[in-house]
Amino acid sequence: MTSPVWHPFTQHGLREPIPQIARAEGASLWTKDGTHFLDAISSWWVTTHGHCHPRIMAAIAEQAGRLDQIIFAGFTHEPAETLAAGLIAMMPEPLAHVFFSDSGSTSVEVALKMALGYWVNRGAPRHRIAVMESSYHGDTIGGMSVGERGVYNRPYQPLLFDVTALPFPAAGAEQATLDALEAACTGDEPLAALIVEPLVLGAGGMRFYGPETLAAMREICMRHNVLFIADEVMTGWGRTGTLLACEQAGVVPDIVCLSKGITGGAVPLAVTLATPEIFDAHYSTDKADMFFHSSSYTANPIACAAACANLDIWREEPVRERIATLTERQALRLAALAEHPAVHGARQAGTITALEVGDANGTYLSAVGPKLAAHFRAQGMLLRPLGNTVYVMPPYCITEAELDAVYAAIASGIDACG
Ligand SMILES: *Cc1c(COP(=O)(O)O)cnc(C)c1O
Repeated sequence: MTSPVWHPFTQHGLREPIPQIARAEGASLWTKDGTHFLDAISSWWVTTHGHCHPRIMAAIAEQAGRLDQIIFAGFTHEPAETLAAGLIAMMPEPLAHVFFSDSGSTSVEVALKMALGYWVNRGAPRHRIAVMESSYHGDTIGGMSVGERGVYNRPYQPLLFDVTALPFPAAGAEQATLDALEAACTGDEPLAALIVEPLVLGAGGMRFYGPETLAAMREICMRHNVLFIADEVMTGWGRTGTLLACEQAGVVPDIVCLSKGITGGAVPLAVTLATPEIFDAHYSTDKADMFFHSSSYTANPIACAAACANLDIWREEPVRERIATLTERQALRLAALAEHPAVHGARQAGTITALEVGDANGTYLSAVGPKLAAHFRAQGMLLRPLGNTVYVMPPYCITEAELDAVYAAIASGIDACG
């Protein structure tokens, strides 16, 4: 059956059922006929406090009654100003400038363009970007260029720009990553920037590495005057236990990308934060030096109002306590599951847990993935394995009983498919 709606990362030819969700609250989703799903992956890593958080919903409704949209070049509005001030207060110094866009991918494009513009405007153009193998930075051409090359971007590979890929710092092999970065920094072609997902490589298979390595990479970049871009689109907003993953390494990047949880996961918005050095490189009386980037909905007031409510929640509700509790509960359940003979590589980074089913070296197209996904769907569980990697990344409001149900579904899925 053909589908008028063309879904993302979906092979319509496999005719897998596509449930239609009509209502959500907390970690629960319901179809129109009342079928229940438990959202164990935060609706693709966006929902932080739970679906339809009353404060965020109220902020959206209130803003929608006042100002829907306004061009952001030459105009400004209160939700954007409040949000920018709030973000700067929450983020480490010297991150002091906020550029708005609408998705994680665009926040990465903006970060790359800021880094390249920085070097050109300083009169010392640099164009080479270093990346980490297995990374994911979005599905636009720039985002794919700095991300892992594979089956998901094969048709476009001839158009992706050339980057310097560092090996993933697997446990015990961290020095090779640092050596490769050092070599890239002292190579013939100077590096403009290094872009990394701090601590957790999400779409690349939930691969984790330690804060010492992140700190060491930052130090090498600093020593060689290479800009350090942290893509915290997924890791930001508490996923790894701290507001930013970089915090755990004592690292302050030159540029930070944030999206997903910035509105609590309710509406699309992204920001790219930059230091005064980056901003000042674009600051002059010459129009040719300005930052040439915009999208129609830059800093949409309704999205900004939702993000302001998210900041209020972080400031006024015990979010960090919820994250600590969820982290402990995840650890207990993962430890029990790790005993299963078909489970490999059980691991945790804050609120995220991950493991491989069956084959320790599976790929994104591993046959067990769709079987597990079908099993989970039948159990009313929203889990979306990356190949044979099953991971849990729930909203912070998930209850103990709900978490038990998630892990029971994973255990039965492994028994049925592993
Ligand atoms: C999801 C993600 C992106 C892309 O964000 P979109 O909003 O889907 O464009 C970029 N980087 C990382 C690390 C992500 O997890």
